[in-house]
Amino acid sequence: MPTEKAAPAADVKKKSKTPETLRGFRDVLADEQAAWEKIESLARGMTQAYGFGRIRMPVLEQTALFERSVGKDTDIVEKEMFTFVDQGGVKMTLRPEGTAQVARAYIEHGMVNQSQPVKLWYFEPFFRHERPQAGRYRQFYQWGIEAIGSDDPVVDAQIILMAQRFCRDLGLDVIVQINSLGTPASRKDYIAELVKYFKQHKKALSETDLKRLTKNPLRLLDSKEPGMEELKANAPQIFDYLDEASKQHFMKVLEYLDETEVPYALNPCLVRGLDYYTKTTFEIVLNNAPSPELEGLALGGGGRYDGLIPMLGGRENTSAMGAAMGVERMVLAMKAANAMPPRREKIDVFFCQLGEGARRKGLAVYEKFREGGIMVGEAFGKGTLKAQLEIADKLKAPVAVILGQKEVLDGTIIIRDMESGAQEIVDVEKVVGIIAKRLKDVAEKQA
Ligand code: ATP
Ligand code: MG
Repeated sequence: MPTEKAAPAADVKKKSKTPETLRGFRDVLADEQAAWEKIESLARGMTQAYGFGRIRMPVLEQTALFERSVGKDTDIVEKEMFTFVDQGGVKMTLRPEGTAQVARAYIEHGMVNQSQPVKLWYFEPFFRHERPQAGRYRQFYQWGIEAIGSDDPVVDAQIILMAQRFCRDLGLDVIVQINSLGTPASRKDYIAELVKYFKQHKKALSETDLKRLTKNPLRLLDSKEPGMEELKANAPQIFDYLDEASKQHFMKVLEYLDETEVPYALNPCLVRGLDYYTKTTFEIVLNNAPSPELEGLALGGGGRYDGLIPMLGGRENTSAMGAAMGVERMVLAMKAANAMPPRREKIDVFFCQLGEGARRKGLAVYEKFREGGIMVGEAFGKGTLKAQLEIADKLKAPVAVILGQKEVLDGTIIIRDMESGAQEIVDVEKVVGIIAKRLKDVAEKQA
């Protein structure tokens, strides 16, 4: 990427005097916040339950980290990285993915000395210079989970289970697509067969696929070029080339998934774009994509990467397994499935004020409610009682408290039942306690 030249015209949306977001970058506005918060809090709860610790990592890394781990002949490294040289002459890259980073952190901080597997999670933005479209951005968030230091198939199953349950809990109907890539050694024989097969059909291959044939033949299996479906279906399947240990491992993973009733489908073409995968690979996809823009887009994916830690200079035989879920795509899917949570949390009380004195005093009373842990709605910017009560109605507040000039002078406040309209006057110093007790009574009655 050029550092001095101005951005090519295609990367700014249109010529405009007022600055706009760059192509492929976006603001997340109010209408999506409840969904984002739901996703993040679910991620927090689930990782806590499964014993994962959070990690926060820098957005910039040495370019070599991704070149060495993700692989030079992958889409990410070949054309999707935001790479530049800084003022000090250091070549750096805006991270395109999290697994290589977590592996780097594991080695750098000597986590090999902790009890294994070390389980880490992150919820952060990543950057890829892709052609933008719905569900594909140049900055996007991933929820990632990684378990480093175990080769037990139960870890594979647990990670897959977490990813699937996560989507289910968001109200999404998903299925796991799963495959095994075996070990690099067993894969070699398979790749040789694959190349032999596709060479016989060279004439049918597009230019892109011909390039894949020489540089990264496995990628032919996720080619979306026209006419490839049939060729792929008849291609040799990796399962027939797996070494015995990989086969056993895979069978065990499937058994665990059966046991926990995780819905899955074997997909012999699922190779995923990155070089570091070994054995299990999987993707989470929507069952009957609820909107055309989500057609063919995975919500997340992952797999085992037994070779990555040693490749980056960590201890030999450090096996690992992980997954990453795309947050924007989950939000899109929630929208399409009508599973968006309500915009605002339920409020307990709505606070109304009338007149300048009441507004001034009201700010302090409002704070007392908030400090008492009571969710209060307000419209300090509105003047009339009617306008404020209308908002209280809209927010479905069961109770309103009303502070007028007279109440300020008397040291009182009005409590109004929004359903019956019944009102009572109470001591303003006691109102928080009174409301808190009522809420507790209502909660106990409901329980
Ligand atoms: P795809 O095949 O859709 O390009 P990928 O295999 O490149 O995805 P991963 O690297 O496995 O994606 O990332 C995991 C998840 O992150 C994806 O399943 C997707 O939900 C999300 N993701 C990846 N790239 C983008 C992007 N450019 N914009 C939004 N989300 C993305
Ligand atoms: Mg991609």
